[in-house]
Amino acid sequence: MKKISSSETNCVSALYIVPTPIGNLKDITYRALSVLRQVDYIAVEDTRRTRILLNFFSIRTSLYVLHQYNEYKKIPILISKLQAGLSVAVVSDAGTPLINDPGYRLVQCCQKLKIKVIPLPGPCAAITALCGSGLPTDRFCFEGFLPHKHRLRINRLQALLEEPRTLIFYDVKHRIMDTLKDMISIFGLERYVVLARELTKIWESIYGAPVGQLLSWIQRDSSRIQGEMVLVVAGNCLKNHELSPKIFHVMNLLASELPVKKAATLVEYIYGVRKNILYKKYLSKRLNKIVDQNINID
Ligand code: SAM
Repeated sequence: MKKISSSETNCVSALYIVPTPIGNLKDITYRALSVLRQVDYIAVEDTRRTRILLNFFSIRTSLYVLHQYNEYKKIPILISKLQAGLSVAVVSDAGTPLINDPGYRLVQCCQKLKIKVIPLPGPCAAITALCGSGLPTDRFCFEGFLPHKHRLRINRLQALLEEPRTLIFYDVKHRIMDTLKDMISIFGLERYVVLARELTKIWESIYGAPVGQLLSWIQRDSSRIQGEMVLVVAGNCLKNHELSPKIFHVMNLLASELPVKKAATLVEYIYGVRKNILYKKYLSKRLNKIVDQNINID
């Protein structure tokens, strides 16, 4: 059994949650290296991926494979090792374990069995993207990956339409165009979205624009969606029944040329404002204006 000295960590036997770099190997922390060197086992998703990191830092600790398809079989074995006084670190292929990666059930079991869990801070693509996005960071929600199926994805986005907090999504190259098209259909063309790509790596890029423009920007050059990516989406800053003067101005312009319902449909498409709310507000404002004019005539 390896001893972890109190200067390195506070505890001998525990489950350590150890984040690893999302690209740049220099992002590993001293503490992460120290724990990975000294624990009895490292639970990994994929031995080949983790070996690259461990070889780079000359770490020779024994590995133990734990992923979502074998966890029901492997968790009891890890638990018995921890109960016997051994120490185990859990890592994922990259970033923070448990954040869209395995580890949650193991931590849940340890907590239930009063086995000490020590989470270390470290790299996470969601937080790195949020911090570089320029969007509000005081309140945010992490949504992970949207569902693959179109209908389910639309439903999820619909449920987020009025969410005022900054939204963070993970995505992949072969689905991002569908994601952006669905965001346009629910949030409107004008919702600000930041694409944070290849974070911490040589080709890192962070580009933000209203989602309609972001889609055209990508369509002009497909290399703009190479690699790994996070989408950070501005929250809906309009309260349920509140319409900004700009939106109302556009509504007035369109309604002067088109039937009101058609104008409301177009404004919904541009700004993601619900057309029935827009329609009712527009008619009530128009009625108030007519009443005001009549009072002035009297
Ligand atoms: N646990 C990881 C974390 O803490 O970020 C996330 C794992 S999840 C299975 C993988 C997704 O994270 C990728 O599809 C991508 O959306 C995002 N991601 C990981 N590394 C990234 C990077 N270097 N740049 C941008 N996004 C990244």
